[in-house]
Amino acid sequence: MTLSTIEDRITKAAEKAGRPRADITLIAVSKVQPLDRVAHVLDQGHRCFGENKVQEASGKWPDFAKRYTDIDLHLIGPLQSNKTRSAIQLFDAIHTVDRPKLAQTIARIAQEEGQCPDLFIQVNTGEEAQKSGVLPADTDRFVTECRALDLPLRGLMCIPPVDEEPSLHFALLAKLAARNGLTGLSMGMSSDFESAIALGATHIRVGSAIFGERVAQG
Ligand SMILES: *Cc1c(COP(=O)(O)O)cnc(C)c1O
Repeated sequence: MTLSTIEDRITKAAEKAGRPRADITLIAVSKVQPLDRVAHVLDQGHRCFGENKVQEASGKWPDFAKRYTDIDLHLIGPLQSNKTRSAIQLFDAIHTVDRPKLAQTIARIAQEEGQCPDLFIQVNTGEEAQKSGVLPADTDRFVTECRALDLPLRGLMCIPPVDEEPSLHFALLAKLAARNGLTGLSMGMSSDFESAIALGATHIRVGSAIFGERVAQG
């Protein structure tokens, strides 16, 4: 598929949901993709990208930023505390704030750096043992903690379990966000972004449908 096909599908899904297209940000997930494929999408004018590893992103995006202006880079993978400073310097948004310790570290380093990316709390809506994110039952309290730290909290993010109907998880995330007065919803990937848009997604994270299948990392 191509970027323009995905753009068309987003426009249609937004129309069907009665939502303004402008309320939906397409994050093109470029992790592990060959650089020429990423450059091709940049050449088409797209500027919003997602990466899941700080180190991998540091290896390619400073170069792209010299060649293309206005890049909007989102971290969508787990963040280790010792990479917080690099993440704050490199990313415009972090979607994976998932524990109080990390929120505190971000608050401290953002203060030192004089800047802070937009933040999303990752919620483990499927309550899966291997997945990061706060549990739904702990979300309200964590939102309150982040706000007490004066962090620029924009919304919530989830990755539904692979073997479950994603819309149930999207609906749960939307409910948790609404009751906390948060408007950002980072949800929906290549296989399910249209149902995410129907349930209020503001940030969809689409990788393989734009770039093609990811080549396995060696
Ligand atoms: C890789 C990844 C995506 C994109 O997945 P696709 O199925 O290729 O669209 C979205 N979100 C997260 C958190 C990811 O790690």
